Amino acid sequence: MTVKTGAEYLASLRDDREVWLHGERIADVTAAPGLARGAQTMAGFIDRQHQEDGQALLTYSEGGERHPMSFLLPRTPEDVRRRGAAYYEWARWSNGMFGRTPDYKNASVMAFAGAAEFLNEGRDGRGADFAANMRNYYEEARRNDLVLTHTLVNPQYNAERAKQGLSSPEVALQTVRETDAGVVVNGARLLATLGPLANDIEVFPSTLLKAAEENKPYAIAFTIPINTPGIRLICRDSYDHGKSTFDAPLSSRFEEMDAVVIFDNVLVPWERLFMHKDPLLCNRAFAETNAVVHMMHQVACGKLAKAEFIVGLLCAMARASGKDKDMNVKGQIAEAMWTAETVRALLFAAEQQPERDQWGLHIPQRRPLDTSRNLFPRLYPKLIETIHMLGSSSLMATPCAADFSGDIATDVQRYFELTNLGSQDRVALFRLAQDVAVSGFGNRQVLYERFFFGPQNVMASIYYDLYNKDEMMDRVTELLHRT
Ligand SMILES: Cc1cc2nc3c(=O)[nH]c(=O)nc-3n(C[C@H](O)[C@H](O)[C@H](O)COP(=O)(O)OP(=O)(O)OC[C@H]3O[C@@H](n4cnc5c(N)ncnc54)[C@H](O)[C@@H]3O)c2cc1C
Repeated sequence: MTVKTGAEYLASLRDDREVWLHGERIADVTAAPGLARGAQTMAGFIDRQHQEDGQALLTYSEGGERHPMSFLLPRTPEDVRRRGAAYYEWARWSNGMFGRTPDYKNASVMAFAGAAEFLNEGRDGRGADFAANMRNYYEEARRNDLVLTHTLVNPQYNAERAKQGLSSPEVALQTVRETDAGVVVNGARLLATLGPLANDIEVFPSTLLKAAEENKPYAIAFTIPINTPGIRLICRDSYDHGKSTFDAPLSSRFEEMDAVVIFDNVLVPWERLFMHKDPLLCNRAFAETNAVVHMMHQVACGKLAKAEFIVGLLCAMARASGKDKDMNVKGQIAEAMWTAETVRALLFAAEQQPERDQWGLHIPQRRPLDTSRNLFPRLYPKLIETIHMLGSSSLMATPCAADFSGDIATDVQRYFELTNLGSQDRVALFRLAQDVAVSGFGNRQVLYERFFFGPQNVMASIYYDLYNKDEMMDRVTELLHRT
């Protein structure tokens, strides 16, 4: 197998995984209310890679086989742009509302495989070849077109210890013993978006660990199938309440689900281990392999698709009521347009001059992408606020599909009309707006944008540290000393 079909993807999820939702163990995630339609949406996306127009954009050929574009090792600047075009296409299908498409984690697996030698800095007494493990995993993920999720963060337990870069043994994922077959891990990790609908989990460290002896059990990186004995996924409430696509245009389609992952004495085979007991190496991993840059690239493409969609929605809302003639309304929407255009410009800047990195791969420019990943979590809530301000009570004047054929059909046809839009189209539009900005689904999107890439203060602090400040400070010094 190289590029999966949607049907093969759905079949791969029927593997006796342990997923808990709404107080029950789910027998089959592809059939369970609250999860099934998200799985079907993902299957539909996967099938697009086989369509004639999709294939050239979304896949590449190597060794006589086709693979998803996100696995392409970018050997040239053009490869970076091909990867970007594929990311954008994936995101456009959901308009960025299904954030965790497989290309996100594929970008990380590709980058770690390309920079695999880095991992052998952490070779331990056993002589484990972590680089070979990573390259083999890349081949396996690519060959089987695996859908991955990831869990990077330990649950909160003791904020004081976290502040000192120490883990909390009560809850944090840790190695508890080693056997001939591998290491046994125990504990919990947050938060696997798409977890119930993924094949494997990438368990990597992202928290900044102090290089202390007591932190060694927490310094671990591996991938493992979701259906491994001892792995248990505990889902939040589903936002897919079984409504029609008219009534819930987004939550009926794009419920990607988030889950806390419990590891109950899970055996991780040695050949799936990529880092072990080396906290400092773990801290350097995403940056020095440039995995973070490739992931930021996928994210920026998705955010562009999402911002464009919100601009389209705001314009449609304003036109429907005739508010689009009002200078203040135009000004509000123009601010949303600036968000979309800022992301577009940053993406363009990043893709125009890719650099060759120390691993021989081409990477987009980090700074524009890092600017985008720091700005978007702050700008997305503002986009939603603009929907609130323009939509106001129209976001609540939203009878459901059944009302258009029931006893009150005459009322809803008459009283829900707008100057430029018939009643049913108006209700459809504003039901979409409320799913973006008011529903549980929409509010989870805001939380996602605020946090999924990490705490904002940590990302901003990294940005500050990497910024080339000296030249600018020199100019200040020069002016102060100018005679
Ligand atoms: C919808 C959603 C999806 C997610 N999906 C994934 C996923 O797929 N995989 C994954 O690994 N993670 C995922 N995450 C988790 C995400 O990585 C974390 O939420 C993020 O790193 C923040 O960590 P935390 O939630 O533990 O919050 P905290 O670390 O508790 O931070 C909460 C707030 O407190 C502030 N804060 C924390 N420490 C300090 C301090 N010392 N001083 C001052 N302020 C502080 C932070 O800035 C932040 O605003 C997801 C999160 C959300 C909300």
